[in-house]
Amino acid sequence: MADYIYTLETRLSPDQQKAIALVSDAAKAAEMNLYLTGGAIRDIVTGFPIRDLDFAVQGNALKLRKDLEKAGAVIGDADDDTRSLLLTLPGGVRAEIAMARSEIYDKPGKAPQIAPSTIIEDLRRRDFTVNAMALSMNEGSRGLLMDPFNGVADIEAKVIRVLHNYAFLEDPSRMIRATRFATRFHWPLEERTQARYESGKENGYIEHIRNSSIGYEIEQLAYEDDALGVLKAYEKEGWLKVLNPRWSTAKADTAGLGALMKTRQQMNELGYTPEVAPAVLHFLTERLGDKDISDLRRAIPRKDLVEAWKDLDANAHSLAKRLTGKEAATPSRTWQLLSSARPEMILFLAITARQQAVAQKIKNFFTKWRQVKQKLPLPEMTELRITTEIPSYAKISNDVFLLLLDGKLRSRTETLKYLKPLAPPPPPPPPPPPVKRGRAAKAAAIAAAEAAAKPIGKGKGKGKVAEAPAVAVAPVVPDKAKAAAAKPMAPVKTAKPAAAVQPKQAGKVPAKKPAKPVKTKPAKAKKPAAKAKPKPKASKKKK
Ligand code: ATP
Ligand code: MG
Repeated sequence: MADYIYTLETRLSPDQQKAIALVSDAAKAAEMNLYLTGGAIRDIVTGFPIRDLDFAVQGNALKLRKDLEKAGAVIGDADDDTRSLLLTLPGGVRAEIAMARSEIYDKPGKAPQIAPSTIIEDLRRRDFTVNAMALSMNEGSRGLLMDPFNGVADIEAKVIRVLHNYAFLEDPSRMIRATRFATRFHWPLEERTQARYESGKENGYIEHIRNSSIGYEIEQLAYEDDALGVLKAYEKEGWLKVLNPRWSTAKADTAGLGALMKTRQQMNELGYTPEVAPAVLHFLTERLGDKDISDLRRAIPRKDLVEAWKDLDANAHSLAKRLTGKEAATPSRTWQLLSSARPEMILFLAITARQQAVAQKIKNFFTKWRQVKQKLPLPEMTELRITTEIPSYAKISNDVFLLLLDGKLRSRTETLKYLKPLAPPPPPPPPPPPVKRGRAAKAAAIAAAEAAAKPIGKGKGKGKVAEAPAVAVAPVVPDKAKAAAAKPMAPVKTAKPAAAVQPKQAGKVPAKKPAKPVKTKPAKAKKPAAKAKPKPKASKKKK
């Protein structure tokens, strides 16, 4: 069986993963079972990008509202009938949390009777097999996939299939959805579904579409990557006039849409992830009259999307004004201004700016000025210890970058001159190496002492004691080591190995009391330290 949780974790963005954790916590606190459903499951299996997260809870989703808001969610809409929430979670993650429900349709075009249900029943009210799956997010069954209509098989076959013969009759918006998914994935409708679709079209099912569904589908169009492609498909199928009688592809600004997607791509490559949906709606409806636009806005359920769409022009205008004012008098100030602006605003202004100066500044922000960062003398900064490890690194490097941008540091020499006084002092010497303790230490000291006492070779040097490496004869009692390192060392009196200590301290042993070098006899085990003590000065004197 496929490990869907693993796939989920690898496919979701970090923000989407956090969003799942956040919703899971809220559901757990409310003791509700939680399932991830809809497009996210389909896209985990297909590999297509996961656009939003649809959850179902067994219980009233509206009860999670407060907890979610506390955790930073913005509620775009709350539907009392379906007891569902449309929300935007931190990081701009769009989500819907709905009560698991059953739907019974009495009459086409009439809202269904809704009742709370289990997740399996909930899957029965869904549109297509590929969308009728759920993944448990609950302890004990986490990762369990529920796929009662064999959606995975239809994903593999790349077909869109309704769950039953009345799907389009009960909810004609499913015909619009079928067109949208077929356009997005380039998957055909399964044969019988296609037949039902054609029959639905001929028999005018669409006249019974509910207003709430129209609004929902207008909203969904905003999030399509190829919104223009979907708009064209809607026009061809006759759905666009259902969304608004005067809407056509001629009313869209196709060049603007193209530029929007291209600039978004460039921004993505630079690490910005602007939300484009409001701007997509702007360009899709560019030449529609004001009344039609306000009708469309009123129909869209997600109010934060509508507000963002409404604010586009005013925000772009105010940013343009700031970019031509004193606040953006120099490249560095312009950089700071644009760095603090919302990416959505920059994106929209980049496409709609009328003033050449504004367009040029945005262009520089994305291209030329970024390259100035490469002028930071990183190797020299490392030598000066100005690295990411020091707390002031971000500020120093940003200051240098801004000075370089304005041409106030014109050469590497000038840059280094600026940087030198900012270099942090060298780090303190490393602490003494850890030393052995107890028996092992004693044994090591003895061994070292014996080694030290061995005559080196024959002939001239015969009889001289080898200088034992100081570290080897430094079995300081570790607890006292720090204190010992801090205080000046007392002269070594006894054979205690501890007295010989570390290299630095050994150097501090008063030269007046040089240790007697052992001439020929190997050192006795009892008094190793005295014989092994490294006394560089003393032994030099003897030479
Ligand atoms: P995406 O979000 O990628 O566009 P999606 O399948 O998640 O695709 P949503 O509009 O987010 O689509 O809806 C979430 C889920 O809700 C769907 O997958 C489907 O199971 C169910 N759903 C939405 N609209 C309908 C509908 N009109 N009839 C039945 N089920 C629907
Ligand atoms: Mg979805």
